[in-house]
Amino acid sequence: MRVALVTVGDELLAGDTVNTNAAWLGSRLAERGATVERVTVVPDRIADIARVVNEYRAEYDAVIVTGGVGPTHDDVTIDGVAAAFGRDVTRSEEALAWLEEHGGYSREDLTEGTADIPAGAEMLPNREGVAPGCVIDGVYVLPGVPAEMKAMFEDVADRFTGQRRHVATVEADEPESALLDRVRDVRERFDVQVGSYPGDTVTIKLQHTDEGTVREAAEWLRERVESPETA
Ligand code: ATP
Ligand code: MG
Repeated sequence: MRVALVTVGDELLAGDTVNTNAAWLGSRLAERGATVERVTVVPDRIADIARVVNEYRAEYDAVIVTGGVGPTHDDVTIDGVAAAFGRDVTRSEEALAWLEEHGGYSREDLTEGTADIPAGAEMLPNREGVAPGCVIDGVYVLPGVPAEMKAMFEDVADRFTGQRRHVATVEADEPESALLDRVRDVRERFDVQVGSYPGDTVTIKLQHTDEGTVREAAEWLRERVESPETA
């Protein structure tokens, strides 16, 4: 399953907040075998959200949007997604009922707009916060607050499927350019997907859908690279 992520927030673009939602979703989706093929950051602006959601929902099996939900002036994620579908935003009776039953709120306590979702969307309750998320035709709208986003994602996680890839890493204490021949050989020999990530040492990440293949490939490669000094 091919997935696109859209993370909404001026603070992400300004560098005030690190986009941990995209990183966390990327790794959870990979664990499930779904592949993230796009991550886009957009400002808190309805037209920008609508444009990118429309582009991605035509292209990918699912789109996950995280960003401000609820009644605050800059929480326009729901409006942006509603605009992408040409739908109105309506108060979700189901969300209000859920908040009364599980959140201990009465309707009068809730700020106007708290329970708004696009008309016809499936409501996703917010177990860690207040304002709900939603799903509309393969587009998942989750809150920006990481704890709320994670809890809501787990409620729908089993809708994201794919063939799980197994991973092994090999550390090499050599210049990345010196490793080219062995990286080529391990790819040819084992048909593994290889990523090479230089830092203090080079981390070589091997992936394959078969666990045994990836283990053998890692062993083969480990014997042929300079391993870092162990302290
Ligand atoms: P609230 O209802 O509390 O306003 P919200 O769902 O409206 O929450 P936002 O207003 O977008 O969410 O953001 C709330 C907090 O979550 C902010 O501190 C924001 O920086 C943080 N946040 C938003 N998006 C991300 C992201 N992609 N990664 C990490 N943190 C994020
Ligand atoms: Mg907010």
